[in-house]
Amino acid sequence: MKVTGLETIRLAEFPAILFLQVHTDEGLIGLGENCVGVESVETFLHESVAPRLLGKNPLNINEIHEVLHQDFIGFNGSSIAVRATSSIDIALWDLFGQVTGQPIYQLLGGKVRDKIRAYNTCAGSAYAKGSSNIDRNRKAQLGTVTDHEYEDLFAFLNNPEDLVASLKAMGMTAMKIWPFDEAAIRSGGQTIHKKDLWEAVDLFKRARVAAGDDFDIMLEMHSLWSTPAATIIANAVEEYSPFWFEDPIRNESTDALIRLKNSINLPITVGETTGTRWDHHRLLSSKAVDHLMLDPGWVGGITEASKVIALASTYGVPVAPHDCTGPVVLTVGTHLGVTYPNVELQEMVRAFYYGWYQDMVTVLPKYENGFLTPPSTPGLGTALQPGINQRPDAIVRWSRLG
Ligand SMILES: [Mg+2]
Repeated sequence: MKVTGLETIRLAEFPAILFLQVHTDEGLIGLGENCVGVESVETFLHESVAPRLLGKNPLNINEIHEVLHQDFIGFNGSSIAVRATSSIDIALWDLFGQVTGQPIYQLLGGKVRDKIRAYNTCAGSAYAKGSSNIDRNRKAQLGTVTDHEYEDLFAFLNNPEDLVASLKAMGMTAMKIWPFDEAAIRSGGQTIHKKDLWEAVDLFKRARVAAGDDFDIMLEMHSLWSTPAATIIANAVEEYSPFWFEDPIRNESTDALIRLKNSINLPITVGETTGTRWDHHRLLSSKAVDHLMLDPGWVGGITEASKVIALASTYGVPVAPHDCTGPVVLTVGTHLGVTYPNVELQEMVRAFYYGWYQDMVTVLPKYENGFLTPPSTPGLGTALQPGINQRPDAIVRWSRLG
């Protein structure tokens, strides 16, 4: 079997998402995906990846992984190069599954559990319609959209009690919220004003009281804060026991992360934007990381995610794959989640899951009563909805063999 074409698809309606289809001479099509800065990822795929991939046997996943990670520049961290090759890697595993008739979790060695516990990230319906690179202050992130059934961002800022009740009614046992973001946008994140601090702490407290002891709440900080400001916030919110304190500061500086870890009593989660096992090793060996997050589309695909999860296990660190990106990455996360013992949780966004994700792919992991189950059909077990590349807002680009 040979790779005969790379097809990338972007949609104007969802400018942050890119789909990739790897075509073969046997007619099988592998599916991949990426999120944020995707016009650049698309260009890199056609410019720098296609010449190394076209004509290759797609089942030589390890060889292709090595070849694509030998870039002269761009291999360190979650660069465009790493993200492009992540998408390819996901598509190759999808092809491997289709050729062998096995789901990806089986190809990785089989299941340790049938389903993975999910938590709801409280983004709203418009969250995917902008780029987090371009405008961190956009309206959707401030939760002003209210025209969809699951406007969870608006809800956690305005009515956390009803939000918790609605999530519990569908069997959810955990959610993630970010009540401090608006304060960071106001102050620039170097400091937090007292009024902002107590307002956001009060929102978290209201959610905590409504949640009771059978529901966890993750506190997302989006790397918007300085180390001293993050320390103040952690200590103010500690009595309401966040399940974890996610990306409180930018994690380039492990010294800053260690300093923060030594000043607070909350479990720290980092890693979703981090690429490759080398940078994840830097985070893990700092011993400042309690939970590791990774995004299969940003870390290096399924091949690299598997190595990072194994690495985390040697540090006694549980892993929670990222979503809030796209339906393919969510599906990959659930395959990893049933395969590796130290995966603890899978992120999902119900506003996406019951919204635009359904319009993009034919099958999603099954959500039921707080858990996600990956498809048991070959490969990823999903495909792009027919005709997606013919939508009027689709931007389709090809690289072809020969
Ligand atoms: Mg996050």
